[in-house]
Amino acid sequence: MPKISDAIERVQGKIADACARAGRSQTEVRLCGVSKFHSKDEVDEAFSAGLRLFGENRVQEAAEKFTAQEKNGLRIHLIGGLQRNKAKRAVELFDCIQSVDRLPLIDELGSLTRDKQNPLPILLELHTAEDSKSGFPDIDSLLFGVERVFSHRGLLFQGLMTMAPNSNDEKSIRASFRAVTAAQKAVSARFPNSCPVLSMGMSNDFEIAIEEGSTMVRIGTAIFGRRL
Ligand SMILES: *Cc1c(COP(=O)(O)O)cnc(C)c1O
Repeated sequence: MPKISDAIERVQGKIADACARAGRSQTEVRLCGVSKFHSKDEVDEAFSAGLRLFGENRVQEAAEKFTAQEKNGLRIHLIGGLQRNKAKRAVELFDCIQSVDRLPLIDELGSLTRDKQNPLPILLELHTAEDSKSGFPDIDSLLFGVERVFSHRGLLFQGLMTMAPNSNDEKSIRASFRAVTAAQKAVSARFPNSCPVLSMGMSNDFEIAIEEGSTMVRIGTAIFGRRL
C-alpha cells in the first residue's frame, strides 16, 4: 500500500497535467478525497498531507468519523443518496450536499435550513449514465429543481454533480460529462452566473472530467486504496 500522502501527491500531479492539457489553471479544480469505508486514522493522515475536503456517501458513517468541533478547516460534502429521515442530521454535519436529486428533498432541506445564519451550499445531481439510479433525468426537470432551490432562502445553489458510467468506454464517459456542461449552459442562460461548480470525475475518469470542464473531482480509491 503506497502512503496516502504519496497518493495525494500523485493525484495532484495528474490533475495538474490534465489541466495543462486542457489549457486550464490547476486552481480551477478542487480535490475532494472520498473517505467512505476508510477510517478516521486514514482521514487524519490525508489531512496531515494537506487535504482539506472530504466526501462521504452516508450520513451515519460520516457522523461517526467527523465531529463538528474538530473540523478546523476541514470540509465534508455528502456525495451519496440522502433519505428524508436523515436530512436533519445531514444539514447539521455537511458543508455541502452534492447529491440532491429530487424536488421533495429540496423542500425538506429548505425547511430545515430556513433559520440558519449561513445558507447551505447544494449541488443538484444530473442523471447521465444508465447504470446510475439517481439524479434529475433531464435538463427540464433540472431547471425546475434549480428554480425550486431559489425559492428557499436557506439553500445556496452552487452547481451540478454527476456520476459517469462505470466503464472503460471513454466515449460514453465523455458523453456523460458533456451532458453536464450542456446542462450548465442551460442553467446559466436562465439564471446567469448561478452555476459555477461542476462536481464530476472519480478515480477512473477524473482526467477526462477535467478536460470536459470539471471544477471538483471526487477521488476515493486513487488516494485511500481499495475499499474493503
Ligand atoms: C465512491 C464515490 C466516489 C469515489 O470513487 P473512486 O472510484 O473510489 O474514486 C466518487 N463519487 C461518488 C458519488 C462516490 O459514491
